[in-house]
Amino acid sequence: MTTGKINVSVENIFPLIKKFLYSDHEIFLRELVSNATDATLKLKHLTNIGEAKVEYGNPIIEVKIDKEGKKLHIIDQGLGMTAEEVEKYINQVAFSGAEEFLEKYKDSAKDSGIIGHFGLGFYSAFMVAEKVEIITKSFKDEPAAHWTCDGSPEFTLEASDKTSRGTEIVLHIAEDSLEFLEEGKIAGLLEKYNKFMPVPIKFGTRTEKIEQKKGEEVAPEDKDETFKTVEVDNIINNPNPAWTKQPTELSDEDYKSFYRELYPNQFEEPLFNIHLNVDYPFNLTGILYFPKMTGDLQIQKDKIQLYQNQVYVTDNVEGIVPEFLTMLKGVIDSPDIPLNVSRSYLQADGAVKKISNYITRKVADKLKSLFTENREDFEKKWNDVKIVLEYGMLSEPKFYEKAGAFTLYPTVDDQYFTLDELKEKIKDNQTDKDGKLVVLYASNKDAQHGYIAEAKAKGYEVLILDSPIISHLIQKLEADNENLTFTRVDSDHINNLIKKDEETISKLSDDEKEKLKTELETIISDKKYSVQLEALDSQSAPFSITQPEFLRRMKEMSQTGGGGMFGMGNMPEM
Ligand code: ADP
Ligand code: MG
Repeated sequence: MTTGKINVSVENIFPLIKKFLYSDHEIFLRELVSNATDATLKLKHLTNIGEAKVEYGNPIIEVKIDKEGKKLHIIDQGLGMTAEEVEKYINQVAFSGAEEFLEKYKDSAKDSGIIGHFGLGFYSAFMVAEKVEIITKSFKDEPAAHWTCDGSPEFTLEASDKTSRGTEIVLHIAEDSLEFLEEGKIAGLLEKYNKFMPVPIKFGTRTEKIEQKKGEEVAPEDKDETFKTVEVDNIINNPNPAWTKQPTELSDEDYKSFYRELYPNQFEEPLFNIHLNVDYPFNLTGILYFPKMTGDLQIQKDKIQLYQNQVYVTDNVEGIVPEFLTMLKGVIDSPDIPLNVSRSYLQADGAVKKISNYITRKVADKLKSLFTENREDFEKKWNDVKIVLEYGMLSEPKFYEKAGAFTLYPTVDDQYFTLDELKEKIKDNQTDKDGKLVVLYASNKDAQHGYIAEAKAKGYEVLILDSPIISHLIQKLEADNENLTFTRVDSDHINNLIKKDEETISKLSDDEKEKLKTELETIISDKKYSVQLEALDSQSAPFSITQPEFLRRMKEMSQTGGGGMFGMGNMPEM
């Protein structure tokens, strides 16, 4: 047995760690399970490259509560440590064995998913434990070691009779932290932080019903059943979550079921998903989902979750995800997001901005391809996502640049145009006297139905634009499209619309008109239609082929002198 002093420059670092390093005591479990995961992944890597000549097998991590003993155990079957390694990795505070490993196996291990970074995670155990033991046996053929420390810088290190490979961490839970001996509490923490970690984590057992084999001996209560009850490990995590797979491996249904896995209490299905997958110039994977947006942008409970190498970090993704996309759901996983030691704050720097820009670009590209691949489907979902996209156009110049390709402008007749299509559609029929294209729009179909009907009767397209932020977007579109102006359908400006070809046809002489009329009437012999060669008023077409009822209404309108039968003319512009 040796005794010694933990090698730190500050004599009493523990009170500091306990008080200031981690704002949240509960993260000790995340750190210890992360270390157990690292130990397992390191062994996997070493066996893969032939440096560890042992059977890797199917290692799991076990978290176990000993309520009477007031102890919490975290047990892994990873690479373990020799006594010498304990001295090196544990006794040197702020020396990260994980970083050292990644440095040593730089080329081969960069995708190994190793989590550790700062060399401080282990000491978070002292936030909840008055004494910590490490019992560990290395995969190397060396005796097991037993390290004990009561939170002062003194420790003991002695031999242990542990025979199985791996490490057991024993926390003697302090009196002020007894909550961490509650099964519900630990289950909740595992669910929060470790739900998608890459090594299976066992927490207790559960019963499962499996089919009985013919003639098999079963417990008396299962005698008359076709199933028998067995006790199995309760594995709390999914080690292969969808975002770690390739998009080509996943079906629509896989994406939906992962959504349910992420948000078990969400019953509404997501509309689209966007699979993020980049490894240069930074590493980032993830799946974002567009939920149905109900107009009111209330604070949502189920937010985007940020992971690092499948370890949950936070659901505060401010800065990483551009603001307009924080309304989405899903996960982002990046080992390259710079976080502080406790992983609860983002360290704002250039890398973060790059990530945010990448996400913006990726979302825009995906929307564009969804639009081009299945326009009909995209149109159907437009109203449920428009608020986010419109907000994005207003807040992110990079998004705005790309959004023209898929932003839709629905008409009151449920047709959906892109802005370019709309311009094309109205260019001959809806200009003002300055030659600007006039986009007519309504914000409420019912309240404005009279005006809408009137405008449609004149052959105008009327959009329905009803988002709460639409007036800002209109301003922006007008500012960026010199020859475009938006006019409310119930504004008197609608009377100033001009048809492009009006002048030329009005130049017909009376004789020419008479001739045209007879000719048209022989072509259109159907009595349901009539040909009218006088313009109804200065703005409308110089001749029209109409049904009589329609014609009557148009006349009526022109007689009331632009005010029209719906009494327009006094409506203020919005
Ligand atoms: P980090 O994980 O950032 O490297 P930690 O303070 O969490 O720092 O752990 C320090 C080091 O102790 C690890 O890098 C590793 O070398 C060693 N270690 C901790 N837990 C285990 C474990 N369960 N099995 C093997 N080694 C471990
Ligand atoms: Mg660690």
